Amino acid sequence: MSASTDLLTPLSHLQAVCENATVALFVMDDRQHCVYMNGAAEQLTGYALAEVQGRPLHEFVHHTRPDGTPYPLADCPIDRAAPQNMQEQGEEVFVHRDGHFYPVTFTASPIRREGRVVGTVIEVREVAREKQRESENIAMRELGELMLDELDLGRMVQAVTDTATRLTGAHFGAFFYNVSDDSGGMLTLYALSGVDPSHFARFPHPRATPLFGPTFKGEGSIRIGDVSCDPRYGQWGPHHGMPEGHLPVRSYLAVPVMADSGEVLGALFFGHGEPDRFSSHHQRVTESLAAQASVGMSRLRLLRAAETQAHENERLYREAQAASEMKDLFLATISHELRTPLTSILGWSGMLASGRLSPDMVQRAVTTIDRNARAQAQIIGDLLDISRIISGKLHLNTRTFDIATPVEAAIEAVRPAALARDVQLVLDTDAGGISLQGDPDRLQQVVWNLLTNAVKFTDRGGRVTVVVAREADAALIEVGDNGRGIAADFLPHVFDRFTQVDATSTREQGGLGLGLSIVRHLVEMHGGYVQANSAGLGQGSTFRVTLPLAAATAEPLPGGDTSPRAANDAEPPDSLAGYRVMLVEDDPDTRLMLASVLEAHGASVQACALAADALACVDDFAPMVVVSDIGMPGMDGYAFLRTLHAHQAQAGQGPVPAIALTAYAGADDRQRALDAGFRRHVAKPTQPSELVALVRTLREPVARTG
Ligand code: ADP
Repeated sequence: MSASTDLLTPLSHLQAVCENATVALFVMDDRQHCVYMNGAAEQLTGYALAEVQGRPLHEFVHHTRPDGTPYPLADCPIDRAAPQNMQEQGEEVFVHRDGHFYPVTFTASPIRREGRVVGTVIEVREVAREKQRESENIAMRELGELMLDELDLGRMVQAVTDTATRLTGAHFGAFFYNVSDDSGGMLTLYALSGVDPSHFARFPHPRATPLFGPTFKGEGSIRIGDVSCDPRYGQWGPHHGMPEGHLPVRSYLAVPVMADSGEVLGALFFGHGEPDRFSSHHQRVTESLAAQASVGMSRLRLLRAAETQAHENERLYREAQAASEMKDLFLATISHELRTPLTSILGWSGMLASGRLSPDMVQRAVTTIDRNARAQAQIIGDLLDISRIISGKLHLNTRTFDIATPVEAAIEAVRPAALARDVQLVLDTDAGGISLQGDPDRLQQVVWNLLTNAVKFTDRGGRVTVVVAREADAALIEVGDNGRGIAADFLPHVFDRFTQVDATSTREQGGLGLGLSIVRHLVEMHGGYVQANSAGLGQGSTFRVTLPLAAATAEPLPGGDTSPRAANDAEPPDSLAGYRVMLVEDDPDTRLMLASVLEAHGASVQACALAADALACVDDFAPMVVVSDIGMPGMDGYAFLRTLHAHQAQAGQGPVPAIALTAYAGADDRQRALDAGFRRHVAKPTQPSELVALVRTLREPVARTG
């Protein structure tokens, strides 16, 4: 038992019960004189105990009937309980101190002690209050049901405000609550009761002043008998009290509406023009209603959150479904695009193998196989580029270079196709030495893509022109043709992924509609932009690439020996005469093909199937350039080159320049190869001309040992 409970003696217990009972209690002696009445009885009658004590109660509260006639003590059923030694119950009408009559129910019980009746205890309840309690209970029950069913927040809040305003007898009530709007911002809305909304429309919302603030912060209810006398009132501008024209408020009651989490969902405010209109009972009733409002509002929130989640799930599902359909379609197109050239390759190689083709047909078979294999490699290259672009892994190998390098290389690469289609290919430039900063291989790819399209979409006998020019602080590359042109409605979409104006004709030409989207991405990576122009179908097209010039302070162009044009001056552009090239490749077909290409260009080639074989003969052969595969049984290309370079370092030699030749074409693979000491990284399938050009650029003499 706690110390405070110890202090409650049986007597003080009894006193506490009597004082705090809500029923009015009177104790009378055997002469029907009042000995005691509790607080509820004082409130009911309007008299204080001291005024009535020791005097007949009947004279104070029961002396007149409502019709004004006297009520004799002898007729009173309450006062006969003790003399007749029996309990009396019934209904009577009391007179209040202020003269008004009010019906009550009573129970009068004799007090017996040691076999003798010594007095009466009377319990009295005001009928009107009983009825009010009953109607409060009904209102709360109805509101409770509404809180569980209502789906509209506005209607819910209005019902709470209306009920609370009615039960407190307020002149008006208001409920302020925060909601988030569609864009996620917070908005304060309100419901009003007992007053036309237009009345409040011109007043600002209550702010967090000392009077309103605590309620909005959820610090508890505030009940004030006369707000005009409260020190918290009228201190704050601009109104210093009620705004002009506001309904008069003296009695004030404010109750926060809080969620279980402690979050304040809103606040209920009530006003009355007369003072002392809100009792502690009104406050308790309003707090119960606020708790119900909190349940309802929290329930609606959960419901809305569940609905939003359901919509989101539905949207994600539809997106996933669309993506899956798109993927299926994409895979079907890719598989078609890859199979088409494969059909030719397999068909013609079968006929070659049969050995029954005439020399003319053999040549045709080889040309067709070559063309189709290139087409297939192009598709794979485009797919890899797009996948790198999507995953943000496309990196530039940036350096300073002359614009002529990639443009001329691209023109040369497209020339055979132009010749085959009888399309004239013209380079128009008088701008010498335009220096750019970027990746010349990627810019070559840009120009090559534009040229390939121009040739592809230009009829026999047509003309494709490449213009290179300098304009203010930019370099221009323009690829124009007098081919079939682009319709105005398709023009804005040419750079979109997987867009082709006409699937039939492009299928005939091959392509996935990826080229121009790669072009745009690469140009933008260089800080430039690309535009497409066409006067319409049949009117030809022009693609213009604008690139920023390299800063004047940029590193100077590399020496002439690395530029193909400079190489032209010294010897035939593709000669490898005098080169010793070590080739390490485990696949016999590829090894044979590469060795043949290098030898056909005059190189002396040491071809090895394994890294170990290469290491065994490196001293004897003394390669000038090494070309090595990466994925090989035993020792891979990375380990091979590290071992080789370590061996050379021990022998006092510089590292032999090496090219990594690999089917792993990702940016990470490239970096790994460079880290292992390779000077270049080339993705398979390799163009023979590209390999030859690379070997030439890497040549460095290596001192022979022994
Ligand atoms: P594709 O692989 O189909 O060539 P691209 O992205 O390179 O994909 O081109 C998209 C489409 O733009 C082409 O299919 C074609 O319809 C149109 N297009 C591109 N260049 C030209 C051009 N020079 N003349 C006419 N149409 C062109």
